[in-house]
Amino acid sequence: MVDYLYLKDSINTFKQNYKFLKTFSIGKSVLNNEIYCLKFGVGKKEVLYTAGIHANEFITSLLLIKFTQNLCNAYISNTPIYGYDAKDLYDNCSLYIIPMINPDGINLVNDFYSEDSKIYYDALNISKNFPDIPFPSGWKANINGIDLNSQFPANWELGKELKSNLGFNKPSPRDFAGYTPLSEPESKALYNFTLLKNFSLCLCFHTQGEVIYWRYEDYLPTNSLEIAKEFAHVSGYELEDTPYNSSFGGFRDWFIQNFNKPSYTIEVGKGENPLPIEQFNKIYHDNLGVLVLGCVL
Ligand SMILES: [Zn+2]
Repeated sequence: MVDYLYLKDSINTFKQNYKFLKTFSIGKSVLNNEIYCLKFGVGKKEVLYTAGIHANEFITSLLLIKFTQNLCNAYISNTPIYGYDAKDLYDNCSLYIIPMINPDGINLVNDFYSEDSKIYYDALNISKNFPDIPFPSGWKANINGIDLNSQFPANWELGKELKSNLGFNKPSPRDFAGYTPLSEPESKALYNFTLLKNFSLCLCFHTQGEVIYWRYEDYLPTNSLEIAKEFAHVSGYELEDTPYNSSFGGFRDWFIQNFNKPSYTIEVGKGENPLPIEQFNKIYHDNLGVLVLGCVL
């Protein structure tokens, strides 16, 4: 089970084993869970990896937790990771990893809340308006029924309109952009944290499709296509343009618009969300090169 408790347990183990790994919170969720960030390295180049913004895509949280663990083990044992010296990565890069932006939603999909709790009852009520979406396995939103990755001020109004036209005009299991941008504590925390930093690259992990979305509108940050091609090469994933209906209001969209720096949505795995845990080893294997090269390129 990859839920908030799993994340907390992993972080406690990391604190004991990896004194060099910094852990802090960038803010709290609706239900007061911490949105944890892990920092590996002391280098000048700042890089951000995010996962678990969509509830039923929690396998991406596991991807970043396992990567952190293997990166730290490589650093301790002085062994290479994907052919790169972990000590060099540590010295040259400051890697910020946020494995679980949506802990409340991820808990819901993992059956953490009992069926007689108010939290479960409220979510179920939201879900009843969308009988075609399975509950809770089809849930992508935060616990308020707002899609955190549709909340960012990058053509937010247009994104909201496109999704309203598809019926997502009120709290929903997925795709409702909210009544105002950044209304939710999770999206606001990610936004504020990102503004404090000087990230030269950002990776946003989602499921599914084995594709990489690299573009936002006509922005073309320096090297963004070259890096995208390298990521496609090492992962075997295809480069694609974001589907029009999902093209606006995402964290990555805002990141590119605001900073004009490369940022990628990596849609890992293939199948129906939530992807079965049996896919994890392949997902990890496919994405290790991307995860390491993100600190280097
Ligand atoms: Zn997603």
